[in-house]
Amino acid sequence: MQICAVYARYSSEDQKPTSIDDQLRRCKETAAAHGLSIDERRIYSDAAMSGSTSKRKSYLALKQAVDDRLFNVLIVDEMSRLGRNMLESISFTLKLAESGIRLIACDGLDTNEKNWRLPLIVKSFAAEQEVEQLIWRVKRGIDGALDRGFQVSPPPFGYRALRRSGTKGSEWEIIESEASIVREIYAMRLRGQSCNAIADDLEMRGVSTRGAEHKRGCKMWRPAAVFQLVRNAIYRGVLERGTSHHSISAARKKGVPINPVLYERPQYRLVDDETWYRANQQSDVTGASRRKAWGSSRHLLGGLIRCGDCGLRLSTGGDARSKSLFCPTCQLTHKQGVRSSWIGYTSEGAGRCALEWGLTELMTPAMVLEFQELLRKSVDDGPAQKRQECERALEHAKTQAVRLRRLLMFSDLADDVPIVEALSQAKQEERELTARLKRLQAESALCDGKELARQLAVDPRDLLGPIFDAPPDAAHLNAVLRRLVPVFRLVGHDRRYHAVFELTFDLAGATAAHVGGTALTESLVTYRVVAVSTAKRPIVWTAQGERIEVQAPEKR
Ligand SMILES: [Zn+2]
Repeated sequence: MQICAVYARYSSEDQKPTSIDDQLRRCKETAAAHGLSIDERRIYSDAAMSGSTSKRKSYLALKQAVDDRLFNVLIVDEMSRLGRNMLESISFTLKLAESGIRLIACDGLDTNEKNWRLPLIVKSFAAEQEVEQLIWRVKRGIDGALDRGFQVSPPPFGYRALRRSGTKGSEWEIIESEASIVREIYAMRLRGQSCNAIADDLEMRGVSTRGAEHKRGCKMWRPAAVFQLVRNAIYRGVLERGTSHHSISAARKKGVPINPVLYERPQYRLVDDETWYRANQQSDVTGASRRKAWGSSRHLLGGLIRCGDCGLRLSTGGDARSKSLFCPTCQLTHKQGVRSSWIGYTSEGAGRCALEWGLTELMTPAMVLEFQELLRKSVDDGPAQKRQECERALEHAKTQAVRLRRLLMFSDLADDVPIVEALSQAKQEERELTARLKRLQAESALCDGKELARQLAVDPRDLLGPIFDAPPDAAHLNAVLRRLVPVFRLVGHDRRYHAVFELTFDLAGATAAHVGGTALTESLVTYRVVAVSTAKRPIVWTAQGERIEVQAPEKR
C-alpha cells in the first residue's frame, strides 16, 4: 500500500511568497496525476522558516518519519522547499532513495524515473544560488538605505524609531530624557568614574534601561553596557557599520580584515567630538588603565567593602600610611542636607582586621569540617538518584517504542491510528528523556566522586596564601576575595575607633573557582564583626565577632 506524504515550507525570504495552502493544492494535483492520494496525517509544513536552516521543526519530524518508514512517497512543490542548502537537500533525497521512498517534486523530479540524479543536482544548486542572490540583495538594500541617510538597526539608548509615511526606510528621533542621561554618562567618564561606578550610580538612582521595556531585555545597568554606550560613535553623530561583535567575529572567521564604514549622521549627535574622544581615550586602553576604566582594583580591599546604608562601594582616601574608607555618595547627600546623618569615615585597617578575624574564624578545624561535610552531602544525595530514575524511565520508553514498531511491522496495522500515535508518543518521550539524561550526566560529571575529591583536597587555608604578609599580587588576591566574600558591608560606626562590619563568606564558590570547577553546594556563612582601636600610635585594631543568620543575603 502506498502512503503518500507532503512537505511544504513557507518563508518570508521568498520574493513571491507561496502559501502553504497553494503548495498543498499543487501537491494534491500532482498526487492525483500519479494516481496517488495524500495521507492527511502525513502532511508536514514549516511556516516562516528560512530554507537554509535545517532546524525546521516539521522537517525534523519528516526525517524521523523517514527513519520510522511511516510513508513511501514524498511530494514537494519545488525542490527548494526541502532546503536551500545544496548538500543538505541532495543528501536527504539520496537517503529517501536508499530507504525506498519515492520523491516527486511538482516542478519536475521523480526518483522513480531513470536518470533523476542530474536534475536533482541542478535544481539543488539553483536553490542554493537563490539564497546567495537573496543575501546579496538584502546587503545591497541595507547599503542603499544607509547611503540615503536612513537607519537600519534598532535605535540605541537615547533614540526612538520614527517612521514617516512615504519614506523608504527608518529614521530615529532623539528622546530628550534619555539623551540627558547619555550626556551625563560621558560627563561621569570624563570625571574619571569607572564603568562599574557609573553602572552602580545609574542603578541606585533607578534610571531604567532600554531593556526594561522588553520582556527579555536587561533590566539592570551593567558595566559592559556603559562601556558599549560610551564607545558608540553615534553619540558624536557618526554611524559605524562593521564594528559590532557580530561583524568582527564574522570577519575573523573568514580571515578578512575588519573595515568599518562610516556614515555621517550629524542630526543624532549628543556630545561634541572632544568629549567623545576623551571619554574613549580612557576606555580604549589596556592593562592598569583599562582595569581602572572597568573599576577593578589593585588594592587588596579595593571595591570589596560596601556602604551599609546605600550599598555602594566605599572609596579609599587618606595617605598611604593610614588609608580611610568612606561612602562618597552618603557623604555628599549628607552635605547637601538630603540625609540627616551618615556613617562617616573608618580606616582600611579596621576593614583588614575584620576580614582577618572572619577568615580565622572560617578556617577553624570545626568550620572546615562543617564545610566538607556539606560538600559530601551535596554529592551523596540528589543527582545520582535522579539520574537512576531517568535511566529507568528511558529504558522503559525504549522498550515501548521497540514493541510498537514490531507491532506495526509484523501485522497489517500500518493504518492503525492508535498504534502510530502511541509510537510517535513513545519516540517523543524517548527523545525528551535522552536529552534529560544527557543534562543530568553533564551535571553529575561535575558532582561525581572525582570532582568532590578535587574540591575536598583544597584546604580552605590555601585559598588565600600569605594574604596579609605583603602579598606579591594584590590584584589577584582582590579577585579571590571578591569571590570568597560576596558581601562585606560597613554597617555601623558609633564612634571613633569603632566600626561594625558584616561579612558573608562563600567558601563553596571560592573552592570551586580555585580548582576551576563548579560550586557543588551553597554555603554562606555570615559574621558580624566589631573592630576597635584607640588613639594611641601606632594604631592597632582588634576585632571581636559572632556568626549571625542572615536571610537571603544580597550578593553584590
Ligand atoms: Zn553610602
